[in-house]
Amino acid sequence: MRGETKGRRQSGNAPKERAAAAQQSRDPVENFEKWKIKYSRTKSRVKQQRKRNKKPEWQVERDNIGRLLNKYSEMNVQDAVKFSDFPLSKKTIGGLLGAQYRQPTEIQRQTVGFALRGRDVLGAAKTGSGKTLAFLVPVLECLYRQQWTAEDGLGALIISPTRELAYQTYEVLRKVGKNHEFSAGLIIGGKDLQNESERIHRTNIIVCTPGRLLQHMDETCTFHASNLQILVLDEADRILDMGFAETLNAIVENLPRTRQTLLFSATQTKSVKDLARLSLKDPEYVWVHEKAKFSTPATLEQSYVVCELHQKVDLLFSFMRSHLQKKVIVFFACCKEVQYLYRVFCRLRPGIPVLALHGKQQQMKRVEVYDDFVRKKAAVLFATDIAARGLDFPAVNWVLQYDCPEDANTYIHRVGRTARYKEGGEALLILLPSEEKAMLEQLQERKVPISRIQVNPKKLSSVQQKLEAFLAQEKEQKERAQRCFVSYLRSVYLMKNKDIFDVFQLKLPEYARSLGLAMAPKVRFLNKARQQRPGGGAGDSDEELESFRAQLSGSKPGEQASEEDAGGGGDDSSDSDDGEEPGSSAVSLLGQGAHEDEDDDGDLAFLTVKRRDVFEQEGCRFEEEGKAGGENEDEKTTPTKKAEKESKFKEAKKVMKRKLRVNTKMAFTDDGEVVQQWPPIQRAAVPAPDEEETSGINMDEARERLRREDQEFDKEEYRRKVKEKHREKRLKEKAARREASKRHLQESNAGSADESEEELVAYLGGSDDGEEFDPSTLPDPDRHRDSEQDSVSSERGVRKRSRGGSSSDSGEDSAPAPKKKARGREAAGPEALDTGLSLAEDEELVLHLLGHGS
Ligand code: ADP
Ligand code: MG
Repeated sequence: MRGETKGRRQSGNAPKERAAAAQQSRDPVENFEKWKIKYSRTKSRVKQQRKRNKKPEWQVERDNIGRLLNKYSEMNVQDAVKFSDFPLSKKTIGGLLGAQYRQPTEIQRQTVGFALRGRDVLGAAKTGSGKTLAFLVPVLECLYRQQWTAEDGLGALIISPTRELAYQTYEVLRKVGKNHEFSAGLIIGGKDLQNESERIHRTNIIVCTPGRLLQHMDETCTFHASNLQILVLDEADRILDMGFAETLNAIVENLPRTRQTLLFSATQTKSVKDLARLSLKDPEYVWVHEKAKFSTPATLEQSYVVCELHQKVDLLFSFMRSHLQKKVIVFFACCKEVQYLYRVFCRLRPGIPVLALHGKQQQMKRVEVYDDFVRKKAAVLFATDIAARGLDFPAVNWVLQYDCPEDANTYIHRVGRTARYKEGGEALLILLPSEEKAMLEQLQERKVPISRIQVNPKKLSSVQQKLEAFLAQEKEQKERAQRCFVSYLRSVYLMKNKDIFDVFQLKLPEYARSLGLAMAPKVRFLNKARQQRPGGGAGDSDEELESFRAQLSGSKPGEQASEEDAGGGGDDSSDSDDGEEPGSSAVSLLGQGAHEDEDDDGDLAFLTVKRRDVFEQEGCRFEEEGKAGGENEDEKTTPTKKAEKESKFKEAKKVMKRKLRVNTKMAFTDDGEVVQQWPPIQRAAVPAPDEEETSGINMDEARERLRREDQEFDKEEYRRKVKEKHREKRLKEKAARREASKRHLQESNAGSADESEEELVAYLGGSDDGEEFDPSTLPDPDRHRDSEQDSVSSERGVRKRSRGGSSSDSGEDSAPAPKKKARGREAAGPEALDTGLSLAEDEELVLHLLGHGS
């Protein structure tokens, strides 16, 4: 702009100067030269003068800020139609416009004014209504007003309940605040702590999850928050709830009291106690949809279906098969369900990419999945409640709640992942018959419009047999299924609302079978819990039950788990599902995300026995014990003892005591009838001696037998692994050969066959969080080669016909030269492929291709 003005002035003065110069001499060239010298002197004089008059930048900004502040008192938010109607800095307006935000949404219009004036605000508005900008704009303006610099340290703190939400908010902040010079940082678990520690003290705006922030407050000596101007809690009710209680209290202790506080959520807290914890000063409560008929977006269509627990897998599969072009999020109750069902659904090849997001994934994987799902046009994301709040995935068509949410609030947040910002969306809730009544009451109370739909049972495709087959093939898969089973039951058991969640109403054998398991794994805590029920046998006291529950959920009774319990905060393996926050994880277990912070070993402890395949009959014991009211010695041990790993000796002792034949697999109904016999998936390597002949326990024999079994298992395992390695190697070699041959075929325009879409989709979906590579997900090289040949020959066939069906020989002879060449190669086959390279070069090529493939 300045450059253009200068240009106009220059051309405007020039004729006058030139006329004056012309009076001194008649030589136009000489005059022109004189004029040029004079003009350049004038120009530099003007420049110098302007420089002297020019205000320093800081002073210009100060004047601007003064003008803005004057406007604060007279601003009328009711009339604000555009963001520029607010007294905002040019930098913020520029950032908003650059990100295509022109007009404020209702929550932004109603809260930005209060927040600019420094008031504490409690903002509530439906999901997808633009709450993020409602706090980001005041944050930027607050620091701008004070001309915050790196030396001032932390000025604004934005706390989110999950890493994904923090990441998303950080990205919006970067976009909208790009014209400001503040430094901003994303402080979430799963990242390099050291790296964060080095920068955190110079960061002006921090977007974080509570646990990681507290960790820095505790461990990073250079970091302090004593200058903090503004604190924001996004999803405030979640951050203020039990799960984050201690972490948040500890954080708030480190913050100055004279700060501004903004709380936002779709389900806002009104609890005076909560607000007192944050020492809010006369907060402004803004609830834009208070009078709205419904608490969910008007563009959201909601329905529910009632089905039995064992029908859910089929229902999900059928749903996916009938929504192949959609973007869907499926919510599950726990990580183990997501882990297991994600794997088997990938193998079932539903025809749509499947992704999984849960708290047990590595941070890199979580970000990768998040980005992947953002990009994809059609995909199904299996997720736990880490994806329930705040996430703004674009264009999600469906939210399917596979498991009943903890409460109506969780329901509202889950369905809020679709129908965002004026878009449409659909939501389907799956309820068990036992959950229907109480859940619907809650939803009605919270003004959620939902109607029941029926599913035609004939349209359900059963996948049970396929799952059984997968489980028979892979031991790991079977273990995952068992963990899924136990974890789900535990999640139901730990739910607070017993009107909705009653674990004793679940039909366990059917549920186990629907997961592909032959029989229900033993779930010890259920036996214990069964005893606590009225009439369920000699019960422990309430405190004991509470203590037992706390143990189940991984915390000490009545208190939050310490950092140590949660694995030191930065440890991914101990991630709670709501993020990674040390300290937050365990208590959140009592709520929705309860079951998420258990680790694999924890789960195994609830399974039958450590080596299920040896003592498979333990699976039967689950039902047996149910019948007997849990009269075995397990029930007498304390919870602490229960957590201990059982020794082989103990296992052997128990088996013998029960006088069951080792390796005999039976399931019993409550009446004691044998309902099923299942051949062992993995038999005991060493046959047991005839137990019937031994009265009492022959410990030496049992010990020796277990030792030999160990050896056998190890050998077997080793053999299996070697075999697998060989198979993988062979596959890779084949794939490399196929690649080379494909390239040649392409070169010669012979028309190579593309990988089928289905295979591609299954392969993409099939990859998992850095775990073992499953060679079976590769397209079969042999089949692929066949299909290449087929495609070439079919092309040939078409051409032959177009030439009037002449004999094949004559047809081929008359084919154009390049085609002939291609056929020649094809006839020779990939083995006889001449790459034109030496043997060593060939090998190098293969290695290179392998490197790409893996
Ligand atoms: P909430 O936090 O209320 O669930 P978000 O802040 O995530 O909602 O915003 C939901 C969507 O609306 C986002 O995609 C965001 O880009 C969009 N959005 C927010 N404010 C505006 C606005 N003023 N103009 C246009 N789009 C907006
Ligand atoms: Mg939000």
